[in-house]
Amino acid sequence: MISYGKQFIDQTDIDTVVEVLKGNWLTQGPKVEEFEHVLKNKFGAKYCCAVANGTAALHLAALALGWKPGDIVITSPITFLATVNSIVYAGATPDFVDIDPVSYTIDANQVEEKIKVYQSKGKNVKAVIGVDYAGHPCDWEALRSIADRYKIQLVNDNSHALGACYKGAHNYATKYANAVIQSFHPVKHITTGEGGAILTNDSRIDEKIRLLRTHGMTSNSNIMDKHDGQWYYEMVDLGYNYRITDFQCALGISQLDKLGNFIDRRKKIAQNYNEAFINDDRFIVPFVNSNVNHAYHLYPLQVRFDKTSVSRIQLFDEMMKINIKLQVHYIPVHLQPYYRKKFGFNENNFPIAEKFYLNEISLPVFFELSEKEISSLIERIDRILINKM
Ligand SMILES: *Cc1c(COP(=O)(O)O)cnc(C)c1O
Repeated sequence: MISYGKQFIDQTDIDTVVEVLKGNWLTQGPKVEEFEHVLKNKFGAKYCCAVANGTAALHLAALALGWKPGDIVITSPITFLATVNSIVYAGATPDFVDIDPVSYTIDANQVEEKIKVYQSKGKNVKAVIGVDYAGHPCDWEALRSIADRYKIQLVNDNSHALGACYKGAHNYATKYANAVIQSFHPVKHITTGEGGAILTNDSRIDEKIRLLRTHGMTSNSNIMDKHDGQWYYEMVDLGYNYRITDFQCALGISQLDKLGNFIDRRKKIAQNYNEAFINDDRFIVPFVNSNVNHAYHLYPLQVRFDKTSVSRIQLFDEMMKINIKLQVHYIPVHLQPYYRKKFGFNENNFPIAEKFYLNEISLPVFFELSEKEISSLIERIDRILINKM
């Protein structure tokens, strides 16, 4: 079965993991630091902390940024649940701003409008989480300018966009945002099985995250109240076990070497899809702003189902018959029962996101997807989606 995403593991990956398994350190060893080192070099960040998964990365970033009950944090409804859940983990209140209908990322103008509305009610917005949806960077310059003017923190949920570029900068994520989240789940650009990281240029954020990654424990005598001896540690904050293992980090280091090739392949696949669908009025292909380099975690194709006599359910069923499992990214988060019940969101709150959801299908994009599979998939979609008479 072909799904929308899949990892690629080669013999070098396997060998480096086996090497670590034979050694002394399965966890809390040197591979973790080495992985953090290569990540921060690759993405031009001053600090990097690797953790158990992307969700843990979001959670720790939220805590390190000091989000607490009463704080309002804004994000996009077109994202994975974890982005929004992290706001709730910290006890803060999530709100959304609709997406830009062209880039599918958070609409910066509406962000400012929303901040002003809150201000007029005497409430302050604490932070904005921008999501580089599908691999297309948000309008980070506009978001940074808003963040500076209104004294708001910026987080980049960069889980879709490793290897993307914005205004010529490969280090754009940490350049504009106070904290950047990566995920290394197998569907993402590089994988460690489960894994994540927080990148930042702010040493205080990094220090706090490191503390919270391991139970809020420290044996650093600069922080501790006293020092009883070699064995001594203190718990100075309520932390978690969000550590990543050394063998996962070894895999990550090896995978990172291939990121360039992975991105090239993803771009090539997207180009094939673009050529097939761009001049066909049943479809809207993903837009790419001229100042960005798309990383194509996803290929979100919008289908004008109003122009075809086939529904999305029928399309999915037909594709399943030839073992292609399409996906939809995403069900707008504000429409999830939990968010409706707890925070009172409803239909029509974010109409552009909701309309996007109704038309979106995610086509498979991953390294090993073959030319033959791509062309038969394109041909099949064309045949299933019969024009309305
Ligand atoms: C994958 C993903 C996450 C969470 O990552 P995990 O590593 O699966 O916990 C968060 N945000 C977005 C946008 C994602 O795609």
